[in-house]
Amino acid sequence: MCRKRSKCSFSRLEVILVSCLTLMMVVTVVLLVLHFLNQERQGKWNPSETTPQYLLGVGRADCTGPVAEIPLMGYANPEQVGGGLLSRLYSRAFIMADPQASRRLVFVTADIGMVSQKLRLEVLKKLQSKYGDLYRQDNVILSGTHTHSGPGGYFQYTLLWITSKGLIRPSLNAIVNGIVKSIDTAHQNMKKGRILINRGTVENSQINRSPFSYLENPASERSRYASDTDKEMVVLKMVDEQGQDLGLLSWFAVHPVSMNNSNRLVNSDNVGYAACLFEQERNRGMLPGEGSFVAAFASSNLGDVSPNTRGPFCVNTGESCNNPQSTCPTGGAAMCIATGPGGDMFESTRIIGQRIYSKARELYEEASQEVTGALGTAHQWVNMSSVTVELNTTHTAKTCKPALGHSFAAGTIDGVGAFNFTQGSVEGDPFWDGIRDMLLGEPSNETKACHRPKPILFSTGEMSWPHPWHPDIVDVQIATIGSLAIIAVPGELTTMSGRRLREAVKREFASHGRAGMDVVIAGLCNVYTHYITTYEEYQAQRYEAASTIYGPHTLAAYIQLYRGLARAIATNTVQDLPPGPEPPVFNIANLTLVPALAVDRAPPNTTFGDVLQEVRPQYQVSEVAEVTFVGANPRTSAENVTEHNFLTVERHNSSAASWQVVQNDASWDTRFYWTKGSLGRSNVTIQWHIPGGTEPGLYRIRYFGHYRRRVSIFHIVTVPFEGTSAAFEVTAP
Ligand code: ZN
Repeated sequence: MCRKRSKCSFSRLEVILVSCLTLMMVVTVVLLVLHFLNQERQGKWNPSETTPQYLLGVGRADCTGPVAEIPLMGYANPEQVGGGLLSRLYSRAFIMADPQASRRLVFVTADIGMVSQKLRLEVLKKLQSKYGDLYRQDNVILSGTHTHSGPGGYFQYTLLWITSKGLIRPSLNAIVNGIVKSIDTAHQNMKKGRILINRGTVENSQINRSPFSYLENPASERSRYASDTDKEMVVLKMVDEQGQDLGLLSWFAVHPVSMNNSNRLVNSDNVGYAACLFEQERNRGMLPGEGSFVAAFASSNLGDVSPNTRGPFCVNTGESCNNPQSTCPTGGAAMCIATGPGGDMFESTRIIGQRIYSKARELYEEASQEVTGALGTAHQWVNMSSVTVELNTTHTAKTCKPALGHSFAAGTIDGVGAFNFTQGSVEGDPFWDGIRDMLLGEPSNETKACHRPKPILFSTGEMSWPHPWHPDIVDVQIATIGSLAIIAVPGELTTMSGRRLREAVKREFASHGRAGMDVVIAGLCNVYTHYITTYEEYQAQRYEAASTIYGPHTLAAYIQLYRGLARAIATNTVQDLPPGPEPPVFNIANLTLVPALAVDRAPPNTTFGDVLQEVRPQYQVSEVAEVTFVGANPRTSAENVTEHNFLTVERHNSSAASWQVVQNDASWDTRFYWTKGSLGRSNVTIQWHIPGGTEPGLYRIRYFGHYRRRVSIFHIVTVPFEGTSAAFEVTAP
């Protein structure tokens, strides 16, 4: 070895050897870097590099039903019945199958208040008759968006049957048929494709409407979260083999109650508006409700989440009523109402919908993490009235027969109740309890004790005339798509309840070798059981707690049940899960307090579709064009034609000398008002809120309806008709 450089001299062979070694090292390093870069790239999605993981199908179908005289489902306000249409309601279906199509999952989100047991059972029956055992109770999830502006009348349990004024067949049929049709469309369109997942926070779109209940949760638990609502939106982007867009399925926790209980126009509220914006953008050149791209905004743990971001104020004095009872110094709880962010409910709906849409669009465009892995589903029917809950190794507790507390009748800051009920009642009221005992019967001591500290207003689990008032048998269900788990919950979980359930399910999967699962909660699924608060929130007995119908341990029971389902999926033992007791089907009479459809009549010297109040000759963009026609009851159209369109806005195309439809009744820019007169007479007023970007030109508005005419004592016929406004000019502002 040479120790002194000056004395050293390298042989020619040594120089070649060193050069070769250096070159080999450089090449190795370059190869390694390239290898890691390639690995990194494969983790992200690149359409040309991986084989499609799933067969995917998406579908959308109308489920609007009758838009007049039917109670709108949500606020339980008997005065709030349909009086027209702002936007159509849709069922949106997503089918995911493994490449061999041996395992399938159907997720449906419909623009309805909630899924009822009757509705679900009828959908499953139809699917069975069409597809045999392909689509079943375990692999079909039906979720409602929870719009409070859709027709009711599709319930078999007496409490909701009464508030819907009975069973309304046309309403139930429209939803059943719409859901099945959306699944049919998705089934027919299935193709190889990929699912990408993304998450992000939606700002300025929610407040907690029971913040004082939320504060009952342990400080150590609350300190783990930045907010008293869940702001995260989860989106699934579905694309075909070539990377072409198929659809968006997302979950975000917010009550669709931007439209308040004074609204009479059927519509899909803020999340429906977001869906419409997304679909309109992707289905370019199509009318609202048309086109193959489907965008869905499904409900989640929205139990205590309001979109009325200005918060609660006394409508009589303007004072804040953000207090534990949500009451005002004068006028009490009935005066305490939350509004915002817009100037009126229409504007608020658009603002919240726009924010949800914008975030979803951003998350959709940036989605790069591919969902891969097997599909799994697990389902059970459970008698929720008597679940034994293991609180810890030594203590157990039980769920209760269903009952609603006094604060249920108080309503919320999104829609106040009647009379003098307030939120946060932990004591009964002798006056109302006396009336209740006289009319409906006194709750048993067992039920009173079980629900404590809830003062019971309706002991629905002990009321069975003419049919049980609330369900005992409910569905619990989980579906997994690779590392994503969807928990289908039969009610409205509060923010913290949702967090506890998600985390418990995530931990359960992790303890069986499936760490890092993404867990989402799908709300208002399969059967409606009102709210689910945490045990601590339950003690405060605000509206959500008073509506936690199976008592203080409801959430703990669900956590136990859903952990069982997760365990079964993770350990491949779903076939060993007992199916549980089947839900009952009651023979509900088609009895309703909704007025029967009568014969329609036009005023003397007019006929249906005649213009009573004409449009102006000219409007500027952003003004409202309005025309009133001799109308007929729109329920007739819903009963005779599926997917009836009540109106068009048409633009004159001078080169083709024809009228081209530019808007229909699904558009959020058009409003269809029906006003009932006496003796079978009625008017229809159509408004077009001319949006920015409307091309100047000549326009007209058309109305399409059906009237009922008696031709003999025993025979009434339905006759289609139409009306057309005068042409009017739209000019630039
Ligand atoms: Zn709700």
